[in-house]
Amino acid sequence: MRDAPGPAPAGPARTNIFDFDRVSLERFFEEELGEKKFRAHQVMKWIHHRYVTDFADMTDLGKVLRGKLEERAVVHAPQLLFDKASTDGTHKWLLGMDAKNAIETVYIPDKGRGTLCVSSQVGCALNCTFCSTATQGFNRNLSTAEIIGQVWIAARHLGNVPHQQRKLTNVVMMGMGEPLANFDNVVRAMSIMRDDLGYGLANKRVTLSTAGMVPMIDRLGEESDVSLAVSLHAPNDELRSELVPLNKKYPIEQLMDACVRYALRKRGTSVTFEYTLMKGVNDQPQHARELIRLLRAFDNAVQMKDAAKVNLIPFNPFPGTRYERPGDEAIRGFQKLLNNAGMIAPVRRTRGDDIDAACGQLKGQVMDRTRRQADFRKRLQAQGRPAGANDAAA
Ligand code: SF4
Repeated sequence: MRDAPGPAPAGPARTNIFDFDRVSLERFFEEELGEKKFRAHQVMKWIHHRYVTDFADMTDLGKVLRGKLEERAVVHAPQLLFDKASTDGTHKWLLGMDAKNAIETVYIPDKGRGTLCVSSQVGCALNCTFCSTATQGFNRNLSTAEIIGQVWIAARHLGNVPHQQRKLTNVVMMGMGEPLANFDNVVRAMSIMRDDLGYGLANKRVTLSTAGMVPMIDRLGEESDVSLAVSLHAPNDELRSELVPLNKKYPIEQLMDACVRYALRKRGTSVTFEYTLMKGVNDQPQHARELIRLLRAFDNAVQMKDAAKVNLIPFNPFPGTRYERPGDEAIRGFQKLLNNAGMIAPVRRTRGDDIDAACGQLKGQVMDRTRRQADFRKRLQAQGRPAGANDAAA
């Protein structure tokens, strides 16, 4: 256990300031506290730039305002249960969201950038067959405070100073959960990430990754301005429906059309397609050729070269999975076919392997409200493996 804000203080219900972005905090100050907007700005700076959570320490606020805030509000971050550093610089935090649920957040430093992978739900209601999070089932959406709280804890740990000492340069909503299934809270949290009073990240440095919730991609295009990534993983409906069951509801054609609308709305921006390579499943030359056709059609529809980018992710195995990682030769072969067709397709390096923080390996503690976790445990037992689906914190 580590120091952390911990459980919210007892007493009459107080509003958690972490739940507010700039607009809603200004409204809270004006309508609830009878204060000027700029006071809200001062409070945001104390919290997100200086990591101060006690109103008494916010020394440029008057005594009366500090008293009002103490009575009506609280600054409450998720509880830090433990954190682990990888030998490659990757860092993972297990954060308690309530007495029974915890999620994981991962920081990945790389040349000139530091990326934080943030979770949006406790578990995930979608059931992608190659995903470790999916084996844990689903409990609930995270609140805005619980999402931005992940950024706050990581940024504080890293000694990040927005606008000066940036350790945290990018955020990807690619941790546990489907972010578009928790739309309002995710969009509000992303607005704090991009706000100068928050973490000051450029729009293109905040990426939302979706398994393909088509109507919500359109809504995201209307209400926010962030980079879009799509978990594609297969170039045809038959295979994709097996890997990403959401595809049965929103097949590839509908998904690609939504991506085209998103890219056209934000002229000049590209869409990243995530493609996890699994041995003998989706890593064959015919899959590469189908993928090339799909992405060429996307570039043509958007009328921009390289509008589609592909991220190739060699599968990171976890106990009980039926999938395997392809050999290096197969990965390079797949990449070469894409490159020869003029596509940008980097292979993502595996990071944080020694602390189970690699892509697709995130697990927290999920009080599952589906049958999925119990079913997965049975499968593990049948394979003679004692580890449960909730062993991340052990
Ligand atoms: S891959 Fe993403 S959307 Fe699919 S089950 Fe895992 S967390 Fe959910």
